[in-house]
Amino acid sequence: MTDPSCLFCRIAAGQIPATLVHEDAEVVAFKDIAPQAPVHLVLVPRVHLAGLNDLTADLAPLVGKLALVAQGLAKAHGCAATGWRLISNCGPDAGQTVHHLHFHLLGGAPMAGRMV
Ligand code: AMP
Ligand code: ZN
Repeated sequence: MTDPSCLFCRIAAGQIPATLVHEDAEVVAFKDIAPQAPVHLVLVPRVHLAGLNDLTADLAPLVGKLALVAQGLAKAHGCAATGWRLISNCGPDAGQTVHHLHFHLLGGAPMAGRMV
């Protein structure tokens, strides 16, 4: 369920330091090491799956949980009212660099341009 060679598994296990902003039995969130916005948090499940391509029906509730944790973090970090984005890069065309499912929570300033 975890991969000892995976960076985000190791952060979730407390084996690699990160600035944690949330942790519970299923989900860990921490500050991105190279922030792209004033608020840039990374939310990961404790269970290892490489990305949304590997999501299975039994794990689908985990995505709802991640979204709910993101909502709480957006409130706690002062961007719920001003606006925020939740993004999961999946695969090379999307620029995924860490192959453990994660969502970026971005907010805290107007975002240049529209992605979609
Ligand atoms: P992605 O490119 O969508 O796979 O996102 C991976 C994210 O992980 C990038 O935004 C990186 O800046 C971030 N990251 C990589 N290593 C660390 C780390 N040790 N602690 C926190 N964030 C990290
Ligand atoms: Zn992992």
